[in-house]
Amino acid sequence: MTKSLLSLLAPAVLAGSLFVSPARADEPALLLVDGHNDLFIRYMDCPSCPRGLDAYDIRNRTDGDTDIPRLREGGVGAILLNVFSSDKTTKGTLGAFDFLRHLELKYRDHFEVAATAADVRRIHGAGRIALIPTMEGAGRLENDPLMVRTLQRLGLRAVTLAYQTNDLADGANATPRHNGLSDLGRAIVAEMNDSGILVDLSHVSTKVMHDVLDVTKAPVIFSHSSARSLVNVERNVPDDVLKRVAKNSGIVMVSLVPYFTSQAHADWVKREEVLSNQIGQDFEAKRITQAEGDRLWTEWHAANPEPKVSVSAVADHIEHIRTIAGIDHVGIGSDFDGMPNKITGLEDTSKFPNLFAELRRRGWNAEELQKLAGENFLRVMEDAEKISRK
Ligand SMILES: [Zn+2]
Repeated sequence: MTKSLLSLLAPAVLAGSLFVSPARADEPALLLVDGHNDLFIRYMDCPSCPRGLDAYDIRNRTDGDTDIPRLREGGVGAILLNVFSSDKTTKGTLGAFDFLRHLELKYRDHFEVAATAADVRRIHGAGRIALIPTMEGAGRLENDPLMVRTLQRLGLRAVTLAYQTNDLADGANATPRHNGLSDLGRAIVAEMNDSGILVDLSHVSTKVMHDVLDVTKAPVIFSHSSARSLVNVERNVPDDVLKRVAKNSGIVMVSLVPYFTSQAHADWVKREEVLSNQIGQDFEAKRITQAEGDRLWTEWHAANPEPKVSVSAVADHIEHIRTIAGIDHVGIGSDFDGMPNKITGLEDTSKFPNLFAELRRRGWNAEELQKLAGENFLRVMEDAEKISRK
């Protein structure tokens, strides 16, 4: 919208109340970067996995959350793609990056692996979707700076330091082993800074968040986490860390995971876990049969339906992070194909426009939406590139 037009409009219109979805015709298209996608699970970690590219062709609608038609419908410009294989050896890691290149080749009209933020913009400009390779958990780095540098050359651009506690760092939901980041973890963070690989603090303990922010030379990312002061789970980011992320020039990419988004859902998941453990133990100890376990499970779910979580609840997390850290430090990181439950209205990769519609309804302007959608992440990526060249 131009300035002259803006000045003619009444305040209620400026607040966005008359402009809902879809995007206004005079708004530039959003470059949407999704901070976390687990499509590889469909090839590497499913009942019939591992399977090849042809066995799960994403040109067609899949039974998962991600495929090309729905990525296009959702206006996705780039995805941080979790690259892994079911084989945990070095050869398995190399195989996962080989698989990524085959994925890129098979769908070359739609995908291209991006090495830099400039690449992401170029690929988006050419009408393709940029794939930014990440790893969820640093296990495949094998505690070795050599692997950091080598995987960087294969395309790796971000790593979650600990999916569960490892030799580098304590995980979010695990018994701490290092009281935060280990000395080895500090060395790997330094190597990642030098290599231009983003340090991803989703899945690490709160102490690790602080420890990394103490030592990192480059901005950090949280690829899929929400605000802990709204939902008290370890995977979310507390306000004091949000303030430090702003100083670090980093970004928190708000997840679309229901139990990070709604306290009622988080509490429900906790109770479901207790039930699941109880049934498991009773079955192991032969106190109940499989059929009895199934019946208990079904009865519990009938009596305790999953709480619904709305698009608006996600917008609340985004706005909280904007309030505490600022508009330059918030993004979106879905976790599609990596979560069993869904937010109503944000069930798959086609649904992102519902979130932008909600934010427009709340008065977000085009510049703010662009920052949230992708500009903030691309700034972080550019900063990391500059620091690595130094
Ligand atoms: Zn995750």
